[in-house]
Amino acid sequence: MTTDRDEVIKTMKSMDGYKSGYEKFPSELSLKAQKSCHEYNKTAPDETEKYHKILGKLYFKIGGIFLLTLCIATFTACQNSDENKKASKDIFAMDTYMTVTAYGKNAENAVDEAVDEINRLETVLSAEKKESDIYKLNQTGSGTLSEDTKDIVSEALKINKTTNGAFDISIYPLMVKWGFTTQKYNVPSKSDISKLLKNVDSSKIEFDEKSSSIKLGKNMKIDLGGIAKGYTSSRVMQIFKDCGVTSGLVSLGGNVQALGTKTDGTDWQIAIENPDKSSDYIGVVSVKDKAVITSGGYERYFEKNGKTYHHILDPKTGYPAESGLKSVTIVSDNGTLADALSTSLFVMGKEKALDYWREHKNEFDTVLVEDNGNITITDGLKKVFKSNFKFDIAK
Ligand code: ADP
Ligand code: MG
Repeated sequence: MTTDRDEVIKTMKSMDGYKSGYEKFPSELSLKAQKSCHEYNKTAPDETEKYHKILGKLYFKIGGIFLLTLCIATFTACQNSDENKKASKDIFAMDTYMTVTAYGKNAENAVDEAVDEINRLETVLSAEKKESDIYKLNQTGSGTLSEDTKDIVSEALKINKTTNGAFDISIYPLMVKWGFTTQKYNVPSKSDISKLLKNVDSSKIEFDEKSSSIKLGKNMKIDLGGIAKGYTSSRVMQIFKDCGVTSGLVSLGGNVQALGTKTDGTDWQIAIENPDKSSDYIGVVSVKDKAVITSGGYERYFEKNGKTYHHILDPKTGYPAESGLKSVTIVSDNGTLADALSTSLFVMGKEKALDYWREHKNEFDTVLVEDNGNITITDGLKKVFKSNFKFDIAK
C-alpha cells in the first residue's frame, strides 16, 4: 500500500528533494563509498573530485594486477561487518524530509524505533493537530503537559529569558496571521500586527515544572516549531544509545544530529548550506556527538510586491526578522538548545548573537552568514570548520 508519505518522499526524491541539504553531501559520500568500495575521507566535493582524478590516473598507470589487488582489498574492507551494518530510512514528517541512519548490529531496530518516535512526536508537538497537547492547550488556555511537551516548554521558557525575548513560543498567532501555518500567505495590516503583538509575551505563561501544569496569558497561543525538531533529533540520539547503537546520524531538514563518529572512527562531516544556493554549501564542520542546526529566512518564505517575507518573526515587531543575517548555524551537544538558538540568534543579528555566545560559549558555537555574504565562526569551531570562502573568527 502506498501512503501519502511514500508519495511525498518519492516526489521529493525525484526532485532531488533534500530541502535543506545539510547532510546531503556527507550521506551521498557514504553511499558512494559503500557502492563503489572506495574510501572517501575527504571533506569537500572538489577535494573528492581531486581524489577521484588521482585514483583514476593511478588505475591507468599501475595497471590490471594492482587494480585487482586494490579492489579485493577495498571490497573486503567495505564489507559490512555486523558492527558496520547500515540501516537508513527516509520519512516525511513535521513538514520536512528526514533521514535516519544508524550503524551496527541493532541498527535496523534502532532506525525503526526512531521513525516511530518521530511520528509520535509529530502528533504530540504539533500546534495544528487536534490530538496534540499543544492544540488542546491553545484551545483552553490551560492544562497539564505530557512529558515531552513539558521538557520542551520548560527549555523554551528558559531560552526566552536568556535571549531577552528573541525566542518566543507565543509568537504563534502572528505565524497564523501571516499565513505561514496554512501557506495562504498575506501581509497583515499594521493594526492587526500590533493587536496580536500585545499577547506575545512568554513571561506571562504560568508554568509549574513539578506538576507540569500550565496557564497561558489571555488570548495567548503557543507553537513549538522553532524548537521541536531539535528536541526530536535529541530523542533519536537517545533511542540509538538505548538500542546499543554508537554511530548514527539524523537529518531533519536543516537539523542534523550525529551520534559518536563514523564507523571508521573519523568525525562526521556536516555541510552547511549556502543560503543563496541550496545545491551549494558555505563550509563543512567536523563533529562527533553534536547537533548542527541551521535557521535561515531562505527556508520558508513568500514574495509580495517584490518583497520577501520569511517565517522567522521578530517578537518585538511582529514582522519577519531583518537583522542582517541570512543564516545561523548552531553546533552544540544539545539539539533542543541548538534549534531554539538558531532561531533566536537569527532574530538578534550578528553583534547581539556574538555577545550571547560570549556569555554562553560553553554551551554552543555558531556560524553566522550575513546578508552581504560575510561569514563569521566562533572560536570553538576554528579547528573543525573548513571552507573555500573567507571567514572571520570571533573571540
Ligand atoms: P525551521 O524549523 O523551519 O528549520 P526554525 O528552527 O528557525 O526553522 O524555526 C522556525 C519556526 O519557529 C517557525 O516556523 C515558527 O513556527 C517558529 N518561530 C518563528 N519565529 C519565532 C521566534 N521568534 N521564536 C520562537 N519561535 C519562532
Ligand atoms: Mg530553530
